[in-house]
Parts: sequence; structure tokens; C-alpha cells
Amino acid sequence: MVGNITAIFIMFTLYYHPIRGKSKILLIRRESDRILSMADKFKLSYYLTIVPTGDEYLIAQGITARFLRLKKKLFDEVCRHLDKPGNPEVEEAKRRLRGMEMIIARDKDEQELIRFYHALGLKSFDYHSCFNILLTFKCNFSCVYCLQNENASTISKEVMDKALDYLFDHARKNKLRKLSIRLAGGEPMLCVDEIEYMVNQVRARCRESKMVPEFVLVTNGSIFHPKIGSLFRDRDDLHTVQITLDGPKAVHDKRRPFKGGGGSYDRIVENIPRWLELSRYFSVRVNIDQRNYSCFPALLKELGGRKGKKIVIIPAPCSEGYGKGEAKEDLVSKKEIKDLIDNCAALAEKMGLVIEKGAFDRGLKCRTCCCEASVPFPTQIGPAGELGCCYWEMENKEKCIGSVFSGIDNKRAAFWRKYAVLNIEKCLRCKHIFFCGGPCPSRFARGLPVDTLCGDRFREILEENPKNYGSS
Ligand code: SF4
Ligand code: SF4
Ligand code: SF4
Repeated sequence: MVGNITAIFIMFTLYYHPIRGKSKILLIRRESDRILSMADKFKLSYYLTIVPTGDEYLIAQGITARFLRLKKKLFDEVCRHLDKPGNPEVEEAKRRLRGMEMIIARDKDEQELIRFYHALGLKSFDYHSCFNILLTFKCNFSCVYCLQNENASTISKEVMDKALDYLFDHARKNKLRKLSIRLAGGEPMLCVDEIEYMVNQVRARCRESKMVPEFVLVTNGSIFHPKIGSLFRDRDDLHTVQITLDGPKAVHDKRRPFKGGGGSYDRIVENIPRWLELSRYFSVRVNIDQRNYSCFPALLKELGGRKGKKIVIIPAPCSEGYGKGEAKEDLVSKKEIKDLIDNCAALAEKMGLVIEKGAFDRGLKCRTCCCEASVPFPTQIGPAGELGCCYWEMENKEKCIGSVFSGIDNKRAAFWRKYAVLNIEKCLRCKHIFFCGGPCPSRFARGLPVDTLCGDRFREILEENPKNYGSS
């Protein structure tokens, strides 16, 4: 007990010590290892998922969110020598397992460990360097599943200046070296002048602060303005352009028509070479549900066969509860998306395309997006300067957690904090608590189903793709 308290005290002291990033984590691990090596009774952590793969075990620790691969024989020996010395190889393996909290002191309270690693995770958001700026909620499309309202607000110069002050203040406080800005909407290409202002300001401020700027454009792909070409041509800072195509022409045009009617497919495809020329990565998101599931191969055939830079295809499952035209029976499961990707792998390769699996796997998270909503950390800035942590809730003022003018409103933030993984009983007992990080707070708050990876699904994913997960 005394050992535990000392360990937690030292770990927190080190944690708040002004050393940053990885070196601090290493120091904490080393100190925790030293303290644990003084204990004499050990156990395997409850939060382990152990998956046999060939002559090895793939071991996942749900609190530290780390993986280790170990020869089966060696792991069995370790288990036999938990409380007594083994040969040097066994002792070395025990040291590694202890360092990842896979072996812990027998009297250790793992709930304390969860709170500690949760605090560590929260703190790490201070170093967050990637922000979404929603320049407008206006859009020239009328997609069947869009959840945005007819909100016509567009960012002003005053808001952009204040947003930049906010971002660079954050960057200075946290000694960031890079700032990654995602320009999104609505449709951001309706705000070409604003994009130009924002990009030039970010570049100038980064130059002054010796930081590296990086931009991502998330657009429906229908508008390409020559100003955008001049802004990014011969620069290396447009990291990614992401457009969306939901299938071949006939299917896409039904799902993503222009406002007022008319298909958008031809216009988008015509612009693809321009985007390819400007950006380091060019990706096509495909929102998939039962209605366009079977058209995915046809889209690959239409997009494939281009020379030069490869197009990255991102198949993303549509989410129930978002959008006007979505019904539960239209949804596809993660398994169906995985099958689709597997079945199309050879075709994609033949067509010279890359399929990105991240959007359905999402690093084993029970969410449709990678967000910081339950932390809650504001990674989204809206057109009126709203600070929010959920992209989909930015039009709902009540769900935003502050503004670039007045900072974070703790009362509003408390709404999201309620859904932090630490406050969900089921998650506290879940063996992959921090691989997942808890359910989507927005869905949870609406009472929608959130448990797509809960239960044995995590183990199944590891069993299906053991090669994807190495020692970390
Ligand atoms: S392009 Fe995006 S913002 Fe515009 S209607 Fe479609 S989903 Fe909504
Ligand atoms: S709260 Fe949910 S819907 Fe909102 S950004 Fe996060 S995962 Fe996506
Ligand atoms: S949402 Fe499900 S999978 Fe995620 S931590 Fe909670 S119980 Fe585990």
C-alpha cells in the first residue's frame, strides 16, 4: 500500500516536472519500473488481451494502450516466474512487461492506474497541434445525409484574427514546432478570399515563431478557383486535399447533388488533376451505407489508371443519427466495410489506388471520428469564433464550449466531461479502455448505440489483423 502511494506520488511529481513529451513519459516509466522492481508479489494485469499468433502472443494492455509481441514459450516461462527469478531472458521479458504495466504488483489498485493514465492523456492534449477551422456553414450541395442547417454564417476577418491569436497563443504556451490547420465547412471553397487571408497569416506567423505550417483542405471538390492554385502551387505546405465521391456518376449524383438540383460528379472529376498537382496527398472519401455499398468497385475502376501521384481512397461508414436521409437499416457494419476493403484490395492495386483502412478501424476506437470531445479539448473553431470539440455539433451553440473571444466556458465543457471514459462504469471494466477511449460522447448523450467495439470485437480485430499491431 505504502509502495503504491509512493509510486503514485513520484509519478505525479515527475509528470508535472517541466520536462516535455516523450522524455517525461520515459522517465515516468523508468521510475515506475524501479518502484515495481521493489515489490515481491506480482500478477498479470486484468486489462490484458492476449491473442495467439504463430509462435508468439500479441499482448495488448488496455490501460497503457500498448502492444507487446512475445514468444509463447517465453511468456509461459514469465508466468511461471512471476514471483521468483528466472533466467536472464525471462527477467528481461518481465522488465518489459512491467514497463508496460502488463505485470503489476499484486496489491496494485488498477483503478488508480486508470486515473493516472487518463490524467496523462488529458495533459497530452495541451500539445495538440491540429485544428479544424470551419470557414462557413454555407454549402453549394444538398447531400442526402448532411446534418448541417441552412446556416449562412461565414467567418469574418475579425474572427480570423482572433482565432489566429488563440491558436498561436496555444502554440507558444506549448512550445509547438508545427501547426496543422484543416480548412473545412460547409464548403470552404465558397470562401476563397478567407482561405487566402488565413493561409498567408498562418504562414507569416509561423515564420515569425519558427514553426512549420501545414494545411489540409476538406472540400466537396466541385469548386476550384485559380487563386487557390496560386496560393499553394510551388509551396510544400498543402499536406492533403480531401474530396468526397460516393460512387460512380449515377449513384454519386443522387446522393450529393448541387443545391437546386443537378449532379456534381462531372465537375468534381474534372477538378481532380488540379488537386493532385497542388497537394502532397489527395484523398477521396466515400461515405458508405447499404445504398452504395455494392458500387464501391465501380468507383475504383473509374478513378483508377491515372499516372503519377496515387489517390488515397477512404471508405467511411455513414453514421446513424446524422443526416436527414439516414435510417438504421441503411447502415453498414465495420465488418462489412472490412470485407469490402479486403475484396477490393487486388482491384485497387491494379488500378494504382491506395485504400486507407483508418476510417473504419479508427485506431480501435468506438467512434466515427477521431475527436477530443470527451476530454474536452476544443479542436474546432467555427465561423463565429465558436470553440467546439465535436465537428458535428458546431452549429449547436449549446454544445460549443466557448469562443476565441472569451475562452473556454467550464459549465459548457462540463456537458462533454460527463461522457469522459472515466465516468462510464462499463468502460472502467473494459479491457481496452484506452485503445478505445470511450464511446462517441455526442451519440452517447443522444442515447444512440455506441458499443460497436465493445465486448469481444476488440479481440476479434486483433485476431483478424495480427500483423497490424506490433510491439509499441
Ligand atoms: S458537401 Fe458536406 S456540408 Fe455540403 S451538403 Fe454535402 S455533407 Fe453537407
Ligand atoms: S463527439 Fe462523436 S460525432 Fe462528434 S466528433 Fe467526436 S466522435 Fe465524431
Ligand atoms: S465504449 Fe465499449 S469498447 Fe470503448 S471503452 Fe467503453 S466499453 Fe470499452
